[in-house]
Amino acid sequence: MESRTDKQKYSEFKPVLENERKELLDRLAEFGEGGTGLNYDSNFADSSQVTAERGEVDRLILELKEALALADSALKKIDDGEYGICENCHNEIAGARLEAKPSARYCIDCAGKIRQGLK
Ligand SMILES: [Zn+2]
Repeated sequence: MESRTDKQKYSEFKPVLENERKELLDRLAEFGEGGTGLNYDSNFADSSQVTAERGEVDRLILELKEALALADSALKKIDDGEYGICENCHNEIAGARLEAKPSARYCIDCAGKIRQGLK
């Protein structure tokens, strides 16, 4: 079993992640987000309906930013030769999982545990 991370092996994920990153930035730009935090007109805070809609947008923006951070960190890992290693158990992440989700930080086992709050 190959235990060392092979840079060459993972370089194919780079353009995929760069594309993903670009799409996320485009979507954030649609919300007027330059990646520098949330800005809303506080005059709208009175309406509960607007507040609820704003909550939805907040959540979506947060998700986009998290995905962007993951893509950024995955790209950095490819450069550092640390890509494809689970951040929790430090085992190799299965190739099929990386193909499905190139920005994955955890192996399938750890991702499942973390999602359930077990870690
Ligand atoms: Zn793991």
